[in-house]
Amino acid sequence: MRNTLYCLSICLALSIVFSCNAQHSNTDASSSPLSTSANKIVKTEQEWRAQLTEEQYRITREKGTERAFTGEYDKFYEDGIYTCVCCSNPLFNSDTKFDSRSGWPSFYKPISGTQIDEHADGSLGMIRTEITCSKCDAHLGHVFNDGPQPTGLRYCINSAALIFNEEK
Ligand SMILES: [Zn+2]
Repeated sequence: MRNTLYCLSICLALSIVFSCNAQHSNTDASSSPLSTSANKIVKTEQEWRAQLTEEQYRITREKGTERAFTGEYDKFYEDGIYTCVCCSNPLFNSDTKFDSRSGWPSFYKPISGTQIDEHADGSLGMIRTEITCSKCDAHLGHVFNDGPQPTGLRYCINSAALIFNEEK
């Protein structure tokens, strides 16, 4: 009897350790399409493709960049909120949009620092800071430190990563 109990408790301990490990590797591996963690929105490649246009998919899920001066919101200055095209996370307020003449919609600050994540990006032989949506990891664009006051920052964002919502 004692032995059986001992065996059982070892099995229980082992299964807890293994399930913890499994959860860990799920959260760490962003390539794992079915993983979910507390506040993240995770979908398979097929699900994103079904939801997005080809251009939206290429930019947000494959870190693409739209051609300068071609985006819907480059020369667009209505009052409202710009949300993530993938998950509707509110990202930028039109109050902070300015004309950077770069060919991409530019903002000097996000609605909140918690809605976006920053990552060092060494691609294309440049050191840049990539911006992604904190909820669904969509690639949005990059942030540079040549923006206007009060922040001195320029969030250079692809129109195709955004949806404009008019202020009511
Ligand atoms: Zn998102």
